[in-house]
Amino acid sequence: MYNLSNIKTIKSILEKHGFKFTKSLGQNFIINPSVCPKMAEFCCENEKSGILEIGPGIGVLTIELAKRFQKVVSVEIDTNLIPILSETTADFENIKIINKDILKVDLNQLYKTEFLNCEEIAVCANLPYYITSEIVMYLLENNPGFKSLTFMVQKEAAERICADFGTRESGAISVAIRYYGKPRVLFNVSRGSFIPAPKVDSSVIKININSDISSKIKNKEKFFQIIKATYSKRRKNILNSLSMNFKISKEEILKILNTANVDPHSRPEQLKLEDFINISDFI
Ligand code: SAM
Repeated sequence: MYNLSNIKTIKSILEKHGFKFTKSLGQNFIINPSVCPKMAEFCCENEKSGILEIGPGIGVLTIELAKRFQKVVSVEIDTNLIPILSETTADFENIKIINKDILKVDLNQLYKTEFLNCEEIAVCANLPYYITSEIVMYLLENNPGFKSLTFMVQKEAAERICADFGTRESGAISVAIRYYGKPRVLFNVSRGSFIPAPKVDSSVIKININSDISSKIKNKEKFFQIIKATYSKRRKNILNSLSMNFKISKEEILKILNTANVDPHSRPEQLKLEDFINISDFI
C-alpha cells in the first residue's frame, strides 16, 4: 500500500503518470500525515456507513475512509487523476471512483446504486476552494439522506460558514446552512500541510443534518430568495431590500414584517433563522 502523505512517494507517482497540477481545479493535495486519519475518524461513527468523497486527488483521504467504512464513493472531475487513483486505491475493493463533476451527479440515483446496503451515509471531503459554497449548497439541497457533512475549506470560508447570527462574519451562506444543520469547526490545518501550499490556512468543519428540516418551512425557495436578497444588500434595511427585490410596495412589506414580528429597520445580520422563516411564510 502507498504512503500517500510521503512527499517522495507522491512526487514519484505524479511523475510516473506525467501529472501536472491544475490550479483552476483547486488542486492542493494533503501531505500532513495526521490530517486525513483525523478527518476520517471525526466524519462518522458507524463503520457500516457509506461515505461520499468529493475530489479524491491521488486518494490520500480516500484510503483512510476505506480502512474504516463499508463503502467509499469518490467523485473526481480531473480525468488525469483516474489512472493514478486506480493504482493508489487498488488494494481496496470497497472504493468506487467516478470521473465526473460533483455538481452534475444525481445524488438520489447515486444513493440507490451505491449506498443502499449501508446503514448510514455521510460526506467527507477536502473541497476544491474555488467552488466550496456551490458544492456545499448542492449537497444540502439535494441530500439523499446524508447524516453529516465533514469537509475542509479555507479558514476564512469556515469562519463565514460557522458565524453566528448578528456577527459581521455572518453571510447568506451561514444563514442558508443553518437551515440544514449547525456547523462547527473541528480543527485547523496549516497551509504547509499541502502540496502545492496554498496562500491561506484551512479548517475542517462538520455539519450534522437536522432530521426535522422539511417541517420547518412552507416555501423553501422563497426562504432562500429572501436570504440572498437581504444579504446582497446588507447595508440596506430589510424593508428596503425586500421591497426592491420582490417589487412589492414598502407599505405592503411593512405589513408583512409587522405580521412576522420583525423590525423593518433591521439589517440582515440582526435577524435570526426564525425571522427569515416567518417572513417567507407571509411574503
Ligand atoms: N482529496 C485530495 C487531498 O486531500 O489531497 C485532493 C483535494 S483538492 C483540494 C480538490 C480535488 O477536487 C482535486 O482533486 C480536484 O481535481 C477535485 N475537483 C475540483 N473540482 C471538482 C468538481 N467540480 N467535482 C469533483 N471534483 C473536483
